[in-house]
Parts: sequence; structure tokens; C-alpha cells
Amino acid sequence: MRILVMSDLHANYTALQAVLKDAGEVDETWCLGDLVGYGPDPNAVVEEIREIKNLTCLMGNHDVAVVGRMSLETFNGDAKRSLTYHEKVLTASNMDFIKSLPSKVKVRGEATMAHGSPRDPLWEYILNSTTASLNFDYFDTPWCFVGHSHIQSSFTLKDETGRVVVEQTKPDVALELHPKLILNPGSVGQPRDRDPRAAYAIYDTEARTWTPRRVMYNIAEVQERIRAAGLPEKHAVRIGEGW
Ligand code: ZN
Repeated sequence: MRILVMSDLHANYTALQAVLKDAGEVDETWCLGDLVGYGPDPNAVVEEIREIKNLTCLMGNHDVAVVGRMSLETFNGDAKRSLTYHEKVLTASNMDFIKSLPSKVKVRGEATMAHGSPRDPLWEYILNSTTASLNFDYFDTPWCFVGHSHIQSSFTLKDETGRVVVEQTKPDVALELHPKLILNPGSVGQPRDRDPRAAYAIYDTEARTWTPRRVMYNIAEVQERIRAAGLPEKHAVRIGEGW
């Protein structure tokens, strides 16, 4: 099976469209959460996701907040402003869809999926070897896919030494999968690794490979919609620069 794995769409419809087009035909789509937050297009993104067949989709921390299961006060001012706007404009049926998503880890075949980490699915960021090594005890499958940090990366547990090697994965270079790995496909709607292109990955279950991908999209168009909606200027600037 050829599976599209993506995360952190953050209400960026133009980036999502570019990713879906670039990925082409896939057997399944796995989305690791954060459909909303930051961007200008919460309804368009949720509607596009709802149309996807063979979809597994988790809730992210922004999704949990927008449906009222977590206080908006846990977010910083600029993030909170977008969430307040999303809460207002999301249609009832799109809200219901978000509410229907699971906020815990999910296991499918050889992979465990979590938004943040298998240890703390909504909030923990896996950014370094220390956090990664603590998390290898929290899943039983050979590999685990996480989002949340918005950084396309891999964390490899070295059997012999017990050490964890952290790498920023390279676009279009297929990684051969072997136990134990934690992989992050990066962010569709708000990449934070100084590469503003939308990020995702293709997981091939037979070949056991993981191929990180990047795709350019019309960023200026999204920045315009952010400004037109009166959302924080910071959100417009950062998608242009990738931070
Ligand atoms: Zn996010």
C-alpha cells in the first residue's frame, strides 16, 4: 500500500491542495492532526479532508481547543487569535467532524500514529534525542509517526548502544524502515525548518520505505487571505519564510 502521511495542515487550503496533487493516487491517507489553527481556511481544509477516502485522521491540540475541549488560554496570543476566529467561522457540520476525531494514538499495521508523541499524544514535542528516547517505550509497533513539531525528521533507536540518532530527513530520499523509528512528515500548512514548501511523506507498506516530500504552492495567495481575515501578520510572514 502507498500511504500519504501528513500533519499540521493549519487551515492552509492552498498548501493542502498542492500536497494532494503532488502525492497523486494513494491507497490510504493518514493525517496526524491540527487541521485548524493559524491559517485563513478552516472550513475549506476540513471539507477537503472529509472528502478523502480511506482516511485515518487524528485530532491535534489546535483541533481539541477549537471544539472547546481545552481552554484557548493554553495558547499564546497570536495562536489564540486564529483559534477564536476559527471557532466563530467553522460550520456546525465541520465542527462535528472535528469532534468525531480520536485524540489518542492509533495503531495501523506496523505503525503507531500520534499527533505529538505516543507518551503524550496532544502536547509533547519530539525535537531531540532525549524526548525521543523516552518515547520508544510507549509504542509496540516497529515505527511511530508523529507531527506537532512541524519539522520533517527521523529519530532512530540504535539497538547496540540504546542511543537515539536525530536527523532532518531529505526530500525525495527514501528511507528504508527498520525497527525502531519515530518519523515526522513535517507540516503541510506551516513548515518550521526554514523551507517554506509544504511537507508530507509517502509510506510504502510493502517496500517498507518512507519518502519525505516537499512541494511549492502559492504562498502569496494564502498570505493575502490571512491579512484579509484580519489574522495576525506574524502568521503571514512565517509561512513565507518557514518558521
Ligand atoms: Zn501544529
